[in-house]
Amino acid sequence: MSQFYSDPSRENETYALPNAETFKGYRHECKGCGAERPLFPDFYGALYPNDEHCEECGYTGFRCLDTKVSWYYWACFPGCLPDGDPIGPFETEDDAILDAQESYEEDEEGDETC
Ligand SMILES: [Zn+2]
Repeated sequence: MSQFYSDPSRENETYALPNAETFKGYRHECKGCGAERPLFPDFYGALYPNDEHCEECGYTGFRCLDTKVSWYYWACFPGCLPDGDPIGPFETEDDAILDAQESYEEDEEGDETC
């Protein structure tokens, strides 16, 4: 798990904080409806696929689709709750960071209302 800047030019700014975070996950699907979602290992590296509730159908229990680790990222400032859902899966952490940086650039081109 590591934090990074979706805008690489901010890395050299002393007070800029990383605004996104990558982490490892594993692709799972709901045993009830087949909806795919990632599960993430806890601090000790354990997964609890049988304790997870499906947001789609409410079923409890997920099945592993792929034992290979996948990478995800989400927008997240240090010490804050993540801002949105995990985005992924990506094959490598670099792919995840690249995608975050590309989608950040696209956001910048749009008319930002804040
Ligand atoms: Zn489901």
